Amino acid sequence: MTTHRTAAEGGGSGEPLVVLDHVDKWYGDLHVLQDIELTVHRGEVVVVIGPSGSGKSTLCRAINRLEPIDQGTITLDGEPLPAEGKELAALRAEVGMVFQSFNLFAHKTILENVMLGPVKVRGIKKDAAEKRARELLDRVGVGHQAAKYPAQLSGGQQQRVAIARALAMEPKVMLFDEPTSALDPEMISEVLDVMVDLAERGMTMVVVTHEMGFARTAGDRVVFMADGAIVEEATPEQFFTNPQSDRAKDFLGKIL
Ligand code: ADP
Ligand code: MG
Repeated sequence: MTTHRTAAEGGGSGEPLVVLDHVDKWYGDLHVLQDIELTVHRGEVVVVIGPSGSGKSTLCRAINRLEPIDQGTITLDGEPLPAEGKELAALRAEVGMVFQSFNLFAHKTILENVMLGPVKVRGIKKDAAEKRARELLDRVGVGHQAAKYPAQLSGGQQQRVAIARALAMEPKVMLFDEPTSALDPEMISEVLDVMVDLAERGMTMVVVTHEMGFARTAGDRVVFMADGAIVEEATPEQFFTNPQSDRAKDFLGKIL
């Protein structure tokens, strides 16, 4: 079975959704994002890989405006990212983010975790939000855990709740920053399966991961970063079988 899709095959409409144009960012003297040019098309799954410290998390955080950039522009659906206020809150609702650590609210139930954003930020009525939350929890396979608290769930289950919580906001794009890195090995596939399903449903996704199986199965494009720059961009097939740069060859030699 292959789920690899290109824009032309229906993996994306080809329409740019997230566009980074000459983006630079420094932390003091460290040039952490270097002239980043990246377009993520609607429905596309872009897998970002690269050594630790290469700027992958900073890139995700910039797209969600958790980090300001120093130069260049980032647009979402044709609009520049807002810097503050109500517009920024609205942006966060449109860009779902799933982190390595699950970041669920410990003192709220699973159901409440998923309902909270739609009710508080989107202003959706409680009964409608609950219905939608239960559907999403069922979809990620934890519907029967709705009344429990995060600590009562396994890491893999918590991460699936985190995905459901992000989806409840009906985001235009989902960012995943090493979503399986903190999980015990036996829980990795249950989270990746949910992500593959999401990709097949046409969600636009930016996924930082070293899970090459996921990249090959669900990725439309691989972006390889090193030292704050995009060094290589290719289809998963091209990238894994025939990397062009020494940096990518070196990196793949270490992880494969
Ligand atoms: P990756 O996710 O690829 O491992 P990061 O984006 O987390 O890389 O970090 C890129 C570089 O920026 C690293 O050298 C890291 O130490 C540095 N860095 C990240 N966050 C900060 C910060 N808040 N202040 C200073 N340096 C940072
Ligand atoms: Mg990181």
